[in-house]
Amino acid sequence: MTKPVLAIVGRPNVGKSTIFNRIVGERISIVEDIPGVTRDRIYSSADWLTHEFNIIDTGGIDIGDEPFLEQIRQQAEIAIDEADVIVFLVNGREGVTSADEEVAKILYKAKKPVVLAVNKIDNPEMRQQIYDFYSLGFGEPFPISGSHGLGLGDLLDEAAKSFPKHDELKYDDDVIKFSLIGRPNVGKSSLVNAILGEDRVIVSDLAGTTRDAIDSQLAYNGNKYVIIDTAGMRKKGKVYETTEKYSVLRALRAIERSDVVLVVIDGEEGIIEQDMKIAGYAHDAGRAIVVVVNKWDAVEKDEKTMKLFEKNIRDHFKFLDYAPIVFLSALTKKRIHTLIPMINTASENHARRVETSVLNDVIMDAVAMNPTPTDKGRRLRIYYATQVAVKPPTFVIFVNEPELMHFSYERFLENRIRDAFGFEGTPIKIFARERK
Ligand code: GDP
Ligand code: GDP
Repeated sequence: MTKPVLAIVGRPNVGKSTIFNRIVGERISIVEDIPGVTRDRIYSSADWLTHEFNIIDTGGIDIGDEPFLEQIRQQAEIAIDEADVIVFLVNGREGVTSADEEVAKILYKAKKPVVLAVNKIDNPEMRQQIYDFYSLGFGEPFPISGSHGLGLGDLLDEAAKSFPKHDELKYDDDVIKFSLIGRPNVGKSSLVNAILGEDRVIVSDLAGTTRDAIDSQLAYNGNKYVIIDTAGMRKKGKVYETTEKYSVLRALRAIERSDVVLVVIDGEEGIIEQDMKIAGYAHDAGRAIVVVVNKWDAVEKDEKTMKLFEKNIRDHFKFLDYAPIVFLSALTKKRIHTLIPMINTASENHARRVETSVLNDVIMDAVAMNPTPTDKGRRLRIYYATQVAVKPPTFVIFVNEPELMHFSYERFLENRIRDAFGFEGTPIKIFARERK
């Protein structure tokens, strides 16, 4: 399921975001549905012929106030860390610059395949301008034009040759995959260690993978689990790791591979906007979610503190009303043992199928209790409902006119479905379709 990752690197203004947008096109993906990411557009799924991959525009990763060369250097290092293949982009109209040479130096050291692309070659007459770039030492330069969409096919063909032949690790269907996401320093690595250190947890060999991600495999009460993408947490200490877009990138990659996402919040610091963004990605991606308030040991409390904090979370994360919240401490290990049972519940609900007849009873009872909305004299009619998917549970409700299904009524039906079936820990999706 994991797709190869292609990263575009190069100094500013060579055309990275133009190329990124060309390759991504107007496709709608889960990732792009997420507000913020759509705006920033640094990460997206894409495809070329039979290849599906993810693409990163490292130029969009803002490194802050660092000097120009330092920014380029850090972006190149992110590409080296994250990508299977790197497209090194230069500007054919300007020739080789010293900034290009700096990027090249960093990329030499990477053990990742690099394809050199010379952009802004807008017509065939300009092709002889690519020869200068042989001096960068990455072999044959590929002439392209981002504005005209030229040469991209050949470039992607070349890049695809270096996509890993075997998918990253595939786990059996009965393995529950979970990840811990959250901004830097909330205690994700400490939590992973606390989980792995638990008495009843049996840790199996660490499986290295093609892009040196390391997943931890473990067993507990006869169930099997994988903690996704702990490598990023283990080999820490790079300057750029605190940049917001980089942690978002990491979170998106982990979310993509998970069934259950633990959204980790720092109980000592409270909730900040970045927490909500990160939680929003997991929700929008349709993953099961548990909210983990860590560092609870460090919080001065009385009998009301937990209730107040919980209310605060519910107010900030209105869209996560289905997610259970646990207050714990990776440091003292308090309530760490409750995590895996919560992951189990969330994962079961995420994969749960309900019986169509019971579902329809619930919907019809709901309609009897709260009549369907009307608009300009027309009333919404609900004929029947059916569950069409799991992970997350997805329901289609067949109606006379889908436009009459207001958000508030859909929300009401969702609540009735939740009251009847639980679904704690998982988002559910409801679509109104016209009955043919
Ligand atoms: P980035 O900073 O590397 O992401 O570069 P941008 O994608 O923002 O492009 C910088 C400038 O180069 C913009 O004005 C683009 O319109 C222009 N540009 C990008 N690709 C091409 C191209 O293939 N030909 C020409 N002539 N201009 C281009
Ligand atoms: P990450 O960046 O999210 O992986 O966070 P780390 O696991 O590296 O933890 C960041 C800092 O918070 C470290 O100094 C930890 O010792 C500290 N920390 C982690 N968990 C707890 C906790 O439960 N209580 C307290 N008081 N400190 C913690």
